[in-house]
Amino acid sequence: MNFVSTRGNVSKIGFIDTVLMGLANDGGLLIPEKVPQIPAERLQAMSELSYQELAYEIFSYYVDGEIPDNELKELIEKSYATFRHPEVTPVQKVKDNLYLLELFHGPTFAFKDIALQFLGNLYSYVSKKTGETIHILGATSGDTGASAIEGVRGKEGIRICILHPHGKVSKVQELQMTTIHDPNVLNLAIKGTFDDGQRIIKELFADVEFKNKYHLRAINSINFVRILAQTVYYFYAYFQVAKETNTKTVNFSVPTGNFGDIFAGYLAKKMGLPVGKLIVATNENNILEDFIKDGVYKPGEFKSTYSPSMDIQVASNFERYLYYLLGENSEAVTDLMNQFKSEGKIVVNEEQLLQVKKDFAAHGVLGEECLQTIKKYYSETTYLLDPHTACGVAAYEECNEANDFCITLATAHPAKFNESIERCDINQTYPIEISQLFDKPQYLEVVEADNDEIVRKLEKLFSFSTR
Ligand SMILES: *Cc1c(COP(=O)(O)O)cnc(C)c1O
Repeated sequence: MNFVSTRGNVSKIGFIDTVLMGLANDGGLLIPEKVPQIPAERLQAMSELSYQELAYEIFSYYVDGEIPDNELKELIEKSYATFRHPEVTPVQKVKDNLYLLELFHGPTFAFKDIALQFLGNLYSYVSKKTGETIHILGATSGDTGASAIEGVRGKEGIRICILHPHGKVSKVQELQMTTIHDPNVLNLAIKGTFDDGQRIIKELFADVEFKNKYHLRAINSINFVRILAQTVYYFYAYFQVAKETNTKTVNFSVPTGNFGDIFAGYLAKKMGLPVGKLIVATNENNILEDFIKDGVYKPGEFKSTYSPSMDIQVASNFERYLYYLLGENSEAVTDLMNQFKSEGKIVVNEEQLLQVKKDFAAHGVLGEECLQTIKKYYSETTYLLDPHTACGVAAYEECNEANDFCITLATAHPAKFNESIERCDINQTYPIEISQLFDKPQYLEVVEADNDEIVRKLEKLFSFSTR
């Protein structure tokens, strides 16, 4: 299996090099040269597998022998042994044709754990094999940071620096990141938004000399492994619901920020999974909704909402979708991305817009609608939705056709976002793992959203020897 860049200027590389490169060296995103096709009979057989077995089957298409089978199996077992639910990502029927795919049973109570537990173990594996120290640099809107730190803490040969927007993450998210006191972990709270953090990371990663000097590695969903690990639960959930309902196609509603999670669904569909519509649920930061309705992608003003992990204007993974929308033409992608850089927007033509509408539906959920959805489901079904999942459920209500079955991705546990739950006049009890965080000291440094200052902090962390 070879991987290429959406912009076409990286020579073909294998799976491990793709993981290590993160952002493609030409500024694009890495994608498989050919998406593997899973025949219907094979899918049928896969529907009986456990989560871990399924992950192994799906990863194998992409790893393509670069990691020996037994070692890959071990990595998968280890990564999902930290989950509190035996099924890893169980599916719950909520009502009629609505199912919730619970993705929050990992160590930090959000879906990011599913990919980052695996990626942490994979980096550690690579470090052991090559003797290279892995330096991880990432930006977070809240959940990735905690999840990535949890994925690598205490692991030899890895150092990690996470940027989060100061004061713009939930209390629990902040505590999860900053109460870990390991010499190989650095939390930088930047005075700015997630988009500032993401831009800084992208600029530092685009400086190939700097990236190579420090062996900088990515944990954001620009890393293809994040996407790959997330395709597994689309398969798993589809199989559960298809078996229970005897239905052929299922829609998915996905709370969306950086377009990583929903792109994993798009990839699963490309591999042959009978996915119907992919419903993009956003909050007031709704450029993706505008794009899907009008074909114009134009970031606007950043807004802080009840669903902070989706407070993103520039969705990194969108470029991966553009690549397929433009017929896998990397020159056309490069032109559009250059246009985006100079004019601040991307416009697609009529024909392309028709295709976009075939692939996706979209709904931008306003704050009040998000809270009303939480209240309504709590009183009607006793299910307490977190505000991100509530956006997904509200988008299902808006976009799902009456006869279709829909799986909404429950991306976080409500305990992570008590600020929003309190606004619904609901008192929740925290799981013990979360209530314990409040007694711990915090470790973080507040910095300007400035590349040079961040580089200075990094150099200090990276000169610190852990091995
Ligand atoms: C990260 C996150 C999202 C958005 O996922 P993307 O892959 O960035 O689109 C949604 N909900 C929660 C709880 C998250 O942590």
